[in-house]
Amino acid sequence: MEARKLVYALALLFGCMGQAWSQVVPAGHQAAVRRFVVETPHFRVFAADPGLAQEVGQMAEAYRKHLALHWLGQELAPWADKVPVTVQSTPTMPASGETKYTLVAGVVRDFRMVVCGSRERILDSVLPHEMTHTVLATHFARAGKPIPRWADEGACTTVEDQSERNKHDTMLVRFLSEGRGIPFASLFAMREYPRDMMPLYAQGYSLCAFLIAQGGPRQFIKFLERGMQDEDWVTAVSENYGYPKLGKLQTAWNQWVSDGGGSVTNYTAVALGYTRDTSATLASATLPQPPSGLQTASSSVSPVSSMVSMEPMTSTTGKGYYQDQFQKHGTPIQVSQPGPMQTIGGTLYR
Ligand SMILES: [Zn+2]
Repeated sequence: MEARKLVYALALLFGCMGQAWSQVVPAGHQAAVRRFVVETPHFRVFAADPGLAQEVGQMAEAYRKHLALHWLGQELAPWADKVPVTVQSTPTMPASGETKYTLVAGVVRDFRMVVCGSRERILDSVLPHEMTHTVLATHFARAGKPIPRWADEGACTTVEDQSERNKHDTMLVRFLSEGRGIPFASLFAMREYPRDMMPLYAQGYSLCAFLIAQGGPRQFIKFLERGMQDEDWVTAVSENYGYPKLGKLQTAWNQWVSDGGGSVTNYTAVALGYTRDTSATLASATLPQPPSGLQTASSSVSPVSSMVSMEPMTSTTGKGYYQDQFQKHGTPIQVSQPGPMQTIGGTLYR
């Protein structure tokens, strides 16, 4: 039944393509819940509310552009196919999202996205998180393998609203206090989600924020590119951030979160005397605003040293780095929400 409705919707949509930047087309007249389709240059949005379908389509396009600039410094090339985005929304629905795609021979295709939650959460939380997955997946497709889980989910979380990021910090404190932290040697080697998944989100986010604070988002991408070449993450960390070993990075991050987050200046490889190369580790000084996560609370990771200074901190601006950047371009942006991910065959679910 659901498949039939979808086919019908697509058939209706096909008839109106090219007429305007977007169209709202009723689909499934006989269904108990009417669904509408909105067409944008890169997306095909299905929703019960035509207004919400329009908003999701417009914001999806905006996120696609601005998130690519944020992470890559350039916009994405066109995809082979428009990405279907299914919107499921009620005022009380918990926020969640899922992005699936197929990665074959270095080419990513067949993106499919589902965003769930209240209107507000979808637009300011779920959508940017899921859109970051599509940007990173498109960029790293040529590597022929998925981005390390901690880095992928962590990076997506850094574009969330501060209120959402604070939730991860709060969870991180709990996870670490319960001995559920993941040692970096294990974290960097993880190819699949662990059974205990949420610590990966919280810790991955915190570490991403720590690294991005030092060199910015584009250097973080370079770091991933280097590491994914041959899985030599020790060299990737050393070349991009100056820490000679994963253990040194873990210790520095551990201390940073134990001290309550904030500025990373005292925790860089330069500050700790590991390197005199300031090209990467002092780049944070040029960032226009503190990157997301800097102003949030965190904790120590296994092996846990001590749990201190866990009071949530507030940003001096009330917004994260990405929000500030996005709003400079004149487009409102806010949050994101993680979704589960697993690999089934060549299809990735995020
Ligand atoms: Zn995700």
